Amino acid sequence: MVGRKTKRTLGSFWSFLAFVAVIALWAIPSIGPGVIAALSAFVVLYCLFQAPTWCCANTRKNEFCRNNANGILLGCHIRQHKWQKLTMAVKEQAPAKALRRMLSNMSGVAASLSAVAGTISASAATVTLLVK
Ligand SMILES: [Zn+2]
Repeated sequence: MVGRKTKRTLGSFWSFLAFVAVIALWAIPSIGPGVIAALSAFVVLYCLFQAPTWCCANTRKNEFCRNNANGILLGCHIRQHKWQKLTMAVKEQAPAKALRRMLSNMSGVAASLSAVAGTISASAATVTLLVK
């Protein structure tokens, strides 16, 4: 149990690091908006498809699945959960519910934070590029 917990903490560490990296990009003036946009997009993709989180899909017992999963959008090894996560992103009201579940654990918070920061950063960088 202890080993597993350490691994999960390390997972949220990487997600938080991605968040910090996005902020740091803006703090260094020599980095152009093109690079910021590209790196931010990379962080978003990492969080959506690679960052270690819990699966958080609905199980038959009406609880959420606590299996390890990669990325906010992808479920665990159970194929039905993968579909559930993907359709959850499309269905009305479901994203809010999914988000609340995702935010109930540290790695989910870290991944969501980085994804949001990455999205904002990528859009801001794109706008900067267009305005110039
Ligand atoms: Zn699952």
